[in-house]
Amino acid sequence: MHEVRMMQSLLESAVKRAQKEGVQHIGLIQMRVGEASGVVPDSLEFAFDIAQRGTIIAEDAKLQVEYLPVRCYCANCNIEFHPINQIYECPECRQPHCEVHQGKEFELAFLEVSYFNL
Ligand SMILES: [Zn+2]
Repeated sequence: MHEVRMMQSLLESAVKRAQKEGVQHIGLIQMRVGEASGVVPDSLEFAFDIAQRGTIIAEDAKLQVEYLPVRCYCANCNIEFHPINQIYECPECRQPHCEVHQGKEFELAFLEVSYFNL
């Protein structure tokens, strides 16, 4: 399941960054996941459970996910739209494969941390 691997690398960089700043505990991890990021939303919680094992400072962290819908942009029409199909076709001029402005995110948004073990 590739969600586990993606989650592990996300957590790893979060932990590294936090440790560099002297953080001793991560209580909450907020992330942004796009509709077109290729992950199955239902599997994220499970992937997170596995990925956080052994991370010590993030072992009991909670996960919050903000899901972002896909937004495409058509340069011909100068409009942004939510695609209704997989080829990202513009609803006005029917041009396929429009630029994706939003929806591929798989990233950290926010960490809630403490500097002392409570
Ligand atoms: Zn268009």
